[in-house]
Amino acid sequence: MQQQQQQTHDISPWNENNDDDIKTVTEQQVDEFKTSYENFQQQQNQYKKQKSIKVNTTNCRGETRLIRKLIVKNNWKEVFNDGDVCWLGLPFKYQNFEEYFTQYVNRFPGMDLLAHKTQSSFYLNKFAQYFPDEYEFFPKTYIIPDEIDKFQQEYKSTRTYIAKPDAGSQGDGIYLIKKLKDIKTNESMVIQQYISKPLLIDKKKFDLRLYVLITSLDPYLCYINKEGLARFCTVDYEKPNDKNLRNPFMHLTNYSLNKKSTNFQFYNGKNILDINEGTKRTYSSIQKNLEILGYNNQDVENQIDSLIVAYLKSLLPFLAFNQKLVFQKRVAEVKCFQVLGFDILLDEKGKPWLLEVNSNPSLQIEHEVYATNGKSVFEESQIDSYVKELVMGDAIKLAMIPKEDQEELPGFQSYRKLDVDETETIFSKMMQLYGFLSGYKFQEYLTSSKFQKLCNFPQMTSQTFLKHDYDLLFRKIILKSCNNNQMDFFQFINALEQLANRLNQDLEEMLDRLIQNF
Ligand code: ADP
Repeated sequence: MQQQQQQTHDISPWNENNDDDIKTVTEQQVDEFKTSYENFQQQQNQYKKQKSIKVNTTNCRGETRLIRKLIVKNNWKEVFNDGDVCWLGLPFKYQNFEEYFTQYVNRFPGMDLLAHKTQSSFYLNKFAQYFPDEYEFFPKTYIIPDEIDKFQQEYKSTRTYIAKPDAGSQGDGIYLIKKLKDIKTNESMVIQQYISKPLLIDKKKFDLRLYVLITSLDPYLCYINKEGLARFCTVDYEKPNDKNLRNPFMHLTNYSLNKKSTNFQFYNGKNILDINEGTKRTYSSIQKNLEILGYNNQDVENQIDSLIVAYLKSLLPFLAFNQKLVFQKRVAEVKCFQVLGFDILLDEKGKPWLLEVNSNPSLQIEHEVYATNGKSVFEESQIDSYVKELVMGDAIKLAMIPKEDQEELPGFQSYRKLDVDETETIFSKMMQLYGFLSGYKFQEYLTSSKFQKLCNFPQMTSQTFLKHDYDLLFRKIILKSCNNNQMDFFQFINALEQLANRLNQDLEEMLDRLIQNF
């Protein structure tokens, strides 16, 4: 300590008279400064190295305009095959996976899990069942028709619910319910408790679209972007009642719906970071508003971080399985990355609720406006360009930094690293077993005979659960599925729970024993 004091460098001779301002720099501070400067230089060098990135745009779709803007802005090069980065506007394609070894591709196999509301809700509900404290960040969700009885039992006439069709997006087919009789039970959908006291700004409901980047599964490298979008409703919010229940402009924040409202306001100000107007705004403008309204931004941010981290934790076993399934022995060579869109609603207490995660967030940077002659034209939207250029430009640069270097970085440009717990959970064990039984073949489902392999393990039959009961259990589980002689991973979770129950065993202990005996 004394030695350290002696080693201080006095750099204050010119302001000796003002004690408050006297600055001395310790050896340690000099070292810290050097390290941060070296990190900064390293980042700059990475950045320079990446200057001539070749971006393969052959498979771009709605995001073409954004990607081309990024190419011009960053001095990159557009190519039509063999790029450094290949941008896919379509979901992951199994047939041409060779390109995943030579180019960075913006898709992980298996992420389509998020496309269906029933599947993604089932998976999250399961995590909430096993880890209730960690997964209480999404509104209570029922999968219909499977859980209709449960919903009817737990239904309360004082509450409002929101029904969402399985494969819908952009608010399509969504409706609010107060009375049981208003539910259309014949379609596949989820019913969720409606957050009826949202945080309002300018009397309007809004939700946030935040962007999360995954650049590797092993190690699991995830980042959140500091910027994002806020999508506002176009009619002042009121607590749901019979009169306003069917008004989408009051209850649904989707841009695709609200753009049809006569109250829709395009942002046309000068300083994008200062905005306090418009139906679409930046997340940073919301943070300013929250501060003014007396909310603790750091607290809100921490809660958002922990819900995203918990969500990413649930995703890992599923993505790791799919990656192994597709790339087999070459799994360590793949260069996948992906940007996910998290839709988050803040309630009046400032608590964030996860509404949905989108594996294919909109990257459009133009919006439809009406010219004086009444004809619609597409113009660039300043808000969308600002946010999406930042999010995607930095995502590409960051994804290309070698994994070993990324492990050392606390973040990069607009991205901040998230620390996701990679320890095994009961789900990664179930996934391992599922992989083992399926043989990690190019077929991700289990047949009855593959499922029945379980009975060959020690203690996997009993006097009340015999060998042939496996086939019966298999058939019972897959009865309602359209895939009618194969079992997917979600059905497998149900099957294992029932199996442990029938064998009178603890599920996790049963899994550990099975894995030891592979
Ligand atoms: P979609 O994929 O069709 O956009 P979402 O689940 O994102 O479906 O729902 C659409 C909109 O409905 C959300 O953006 C939000 O404004 C509103 N919403 C959805 N779920 C809830 C909920 N549980 N509570 C309050 N509002 C909700």
